[in-house]
Amino acid sequence: MSSKAIRIHTQGGPEVLQWENVPTPEPGPGEVLLHHEAVGLNYIDVYFRTGLYKIPQLPATIGLEGAGVVRAVGTNVTDLAVGDRVAYAGGPLGAYATERVIAADRVVKLPDAIDFQTGAAMMLQGMTAQYLLRRTYRVRAGETILVHAAAGGVGLILCQWASHLGARVIGVVSTPEKAELARAHGAAHVIVGHDNLAIEIRRFTEGAMVPVVYDSVGRDTFTASLDSLAPLGLMVSYGNASGAVPPVDVGMLAAKGSLFLTRPTLATYTATRADLLAVTNDLFEVVAKGAVKIRVNQTFPLSEAAAAHRALEARQTTGSTVLLP
Ligand code: NDP
Repeated sequence: MSSKAIRIHTQGGPEVLQWENVPTPEPGPGEVLLHHEAVGLNYIDVYFRTGLYKIPQLPATIGLEGAGVVRAVGTNVTDLAVGDRVAYAGGPLGAYATERVIAADRVVKLPDAIDFQTGAAMMLQGMTAQYLLRRTYRVRAGETILVHAAAGGVGLILCQWASHLGARVIGVVSTPEKAELARAHGAAHVIVGHDNLAIEIRRFTEGAMVPVVYDSVGRDTFTASLDSLAPLGLMVSYGNASGAVPPVDVGMLAAKGSLFLTRPTLATYTATRADLLAVTNDLFEVVAKGAVKIRVNQTFPLSEAAAAHRALEARQTTGSTVLLP
């Protein structure tokens, strides 16, 4: 049996994403074969395509998120059956495919109320928002927090979830249209551009600055983010859309007010099955009650993944993007 997948034979520009016939894999012990109904597009896919993040072996199928139906189960799989509606996010790579095999303990059942496109859009970005707001830093009502790329996939979820928790979100975006969108999703104040970020934060917080910054932009915003923190504040550097952050002089953290710095990844926060279920249950709950709405603002055929990557890198997308097999 054969299926279709986007494969890359070398890391590089969007043109390396090739739509190819591949043999359909068979599930081994503890694994399931999934038929994808929708695949999530994430900025991390760009890092794996360009070479910013290494790929263990080429050719490879990138992608870390999908939703679909269980087509076959391997031995030792007890809690999933053929026909189950499921979703997942996280490694190993291999989501840009019509079919894939994955460890059963990395998959969760999709609640009936959540359709496949929403499932594929929300798992990686929503789980990320969950651990950032509930574990990396536990955001409390009344706090003012700073969120970069506030109109993006993770960004729109962070804005909604944090404001649901009673926090006041200051968003940073690149255009007035994106500012409008972030405001419509709960941001109390939105800054367009980051040239005078710390000055604007000082003004908006009346000198208090913020206890936490969620920075997914990386190189371009790192210093401005540190300068926006209150003493003892936490810098959460969780992405590199503008490029990797260069090596840090830790003395700088002392000079800027005994700051804390962390570089978290979803993989660490969902390493155990118990953690994965805790994060997804929390996510499904806020989505089910409407506190967080998942915005699938773009869809592309999976075969046109290159066009989706171009749009994402050109900052033309907002909210989440889904690839359709
Ligand atoms: P987004 O939808 O947020 O897209 C990226 C956004 O980054 C753009 O829309 C753009 O918004 C902003 N941006 C700023 N500078 C640049 C630049 N030079 N080039 C391109 N975009 C830029 O993507 P995702 O929601 O998929 O991911 C958001 C970030 O979160 C990524 O950095 C990703 O790696 C990270 N991430 C980290 C995880 C973790 O566990 N550590 C897990 C999931 C995501 P604007 O135009 O408004 O500036």
